[in-house]
Amino acid sequence: MQFEQVKQQEQEVLMPTYNRYPVAIESGAGAVAIDTEGKAYIDFGSGIGVNSLGYCDPEWVRAVAEQAATLQHISNLYYSPVTVRLGQKLCEASGFSKAFFANSGAEANEGAIKLARKYSSDKYGEGRGGIVTLVQSFHGRTITTLTATGQEKHHQHFAPFTGGFSYAKANDMESVKAAADSTVCAILIEMIQGEGGVLPLEKEFVTQLAEFCKEKDILLLIDEVQTGIARTGSFFCYEQFGVSPDVVTCAKGLGGGLPIGAVLCTERLSGVLGAGHHGTTFGGNPVCAAGALAVLDRVTQPGFLEEVLKKGEYLKNKLAQIPQIGGVRGMGMMLGASLQKGEAAAVAKACVKNGLLILTAHDVLRLLPPLTISYEEMEKGMEILQMTLEEELK
Ligand SMILES: *Cc1c(COP(=O)(O)O)cnc(C)c1O
Repeated sequence: MQFEQVKQQEQEVLMPTYNRYPVAIESGAGAVAIDTEGKAYIDFGSGIGVNSLGYCDPEWVRAVAEQAATLQHISNLYYSPVTVRLGQKLCEASGFSKAFFANSGAEANEGAIKLARKYSSDKYGEGRGGIVTLVQSFHGRTITTLTATGQEKHHQHFAPFTGGFSYAKANDMESVKAAADSTVCAILIEMIQGEGGVLPLEKEFVTQLAEFCKEKDILLLIDEVQTGIARTGSFFCYEQFGVSPDVVTCAKGLGGGLPIGAVLCTERLSGVLGAGHHGTTFGGNPVCAAGALAVLDRVTQPGFLEEVLKKGEYLKNKLAQIPQIGGVRGMGMMLGASLQKGEAAAVAKACVKNGLLILTAHDVLRLLPPLTISYEEMEKGMEILQMTLEEELK
């Protein structure tokens, strides 16, 4: 099917909720996507940090296909061995005690928020269910996670929003202390604000925030939906900040392309959500779990994280050498590049035309390539980016 036909048919049947690039992707291998007209694209986005092992990684495909042919779903009324294996692997890789499986990042964050509120109401009673999040954060699209998202543009159209949320400025402890009064049970943060513009938090701020939380018995919830699962060169990004959160959420890269999210908590919190307190029909789905296991098997291999850091450095250096790029920020293979002039959105659109899929976040170009991208693919992508910037920003 040709592109124009796909586009026209979509307009007839799908709600127009997405601004799409004028391309329909049909297949892929490694870090290369192929569209309906057979044109190839180097992929610097992996979906949005989802295809962590690239397109159709052979081991991931085998794990998913075998599980689909064995048992595709079993209700949470019953036990599922592959889901248990994923829980073991995730706890072992992260050092957390217990996991709850959700189906997306927003749902994982909903679970973390519920866990925090229940912990507090069990221990302190009612009236301490407040959650503080950071300005410019992004936590999801459900009504509650939209409320948690600290961006005014997301607090439109859908009122009434969930009560109990307040916002503090990133890297500003005074602002956090002002927001985190005696009605607050948790603070929810991203280590690098992804959708907000690839903005890493300052280490000093994170250390102080963690100490403050401990003092007040406020739970520290870290949203690693975008930064997690080896993306920044450590299994979770917070490890590089030297703090110990109470709860961590992950999703995007976890399933290698399948919808799965997780809430992880420490031993102390492992009994907070009991039978009937939380659940979801699809959570821990065996096929998604098999895909996630293939991802975890890969990213926990010796040397994998070092390779992510090395590739991240390579990309950072290449970006820094491009004259039209003003600055580069981020960690590991999660990078944002600001432009000397022009609009990131227009550059990303021109990149697509030239055969490169690249993301934006606010005013920066955002790179979240598959963790398995080859140096050859990175070099080719960088050549396209450089050529596009020369063309677009003459
Ligand atoms: C993408 C994202 C989410 C939402 O994940 P969905 O799977 O789209 O619900 C939440 N938090 C962060 C940090 C994200 O990047």
